[in-house]
Amino acid sequence: MAGKIWFVGAGPGDPDLMTVKARRLLEQAGAVLFAGSLVDQAATLYAPAGCVIRDSKDMTLEEMTAWLLDQASRHATVLRLQTGDPGLYGALIEMTRPLTAAGIEWAVVPGVSSAMASMAAAGETLTLPEVTQTVILTRVAGRTPMPPGEDLESLAAHKATLCIYLSITLLHKVQDALRAAGWAEEAPILVVQKASWPGEEKIIRGTLADIKHKCQAEKVGSQAMIVASPTLGAADWTDLARSKLYDPSFTHRFRKATETPHA
Ligand code: SAH
Repeated sequence: MAGKIWFVGAGPGDPDLMTVKARRLLEQAGAVLFAGSLVDQAATLYAPAGCVIRDSKDMTLEEMTAWLLDQASRHATVLRLQTGDPGLYGALIEMTRPLTAAGIEWAVVPGVSSAMASMAAAGETLTLPEVTQTVILTRVAGRTPMPPGEDLESLAAHKATLCIYLSITLLHKVQDALRAAGWAEEAPILVVQKASWPGEEKIIRGTLADIKHKCQAEKVGSQAMIVASPTLGAADWTDLARSKLYDPSFTHRFRKATETPHA
């Protein structure tokens, strides 16, 4: 038998944030390889009895490939379950290429990424009219270097929303880059640990000046998203530009204006 291998986004942690498609595939899976502790709960919840479930935390790429190929020779549906979306820091292509070379069919199912889950947890928005209309998903260099032109200082110069993955232990580097790009000491910074995890989520609100101290005080040193954005805190602003989409004076495809435009 030659089964199909699915690279499935399991979402940020809360099993309710898996897509319906991901859950359906999980319910019919013959074998599941999941990426560490971030998705095991979902795997055990919806996988059928008798499904082979394996944690990939201690495996090399070669071992994972061999395992997936072996399982695909026994089962019609084999899942590689990854946190958030498989296309973000998920080593996706490294894993799919040997499968293509082996003639095995594979497909990707997208997932809710932790950046979206973090902003949702805090009741914040990624974009805001006339403030920023751009979101940058990035990280700082750790053992993986950043490609030329993608250092955080250059990206931060846009003053757009920055969702910074894999960088909580390098928060000082994030602070240095934002300062070098001209962000103010009082600029709001959000850190969310284990966004969407029932009972374990931590939301830390601070400023460029004090965010590191606050994270240390709350012992947030792993599994966390850092967001720097001029939209943070907008729920409390007094002077908020309205979105054109819902403005009574704005006509679009689905609705005619009911008021004349403001000056
Ligand atoms: N593919 C994943 C990202 C994997 S890289 C996604 O789309 O979300 C791992 C990084 O993602 C972590 O270092 C952290 O920055 C972030 N992350 C993953 N799950 C998270 C969660 N529940 N809450 C906050 N950050 C999370």
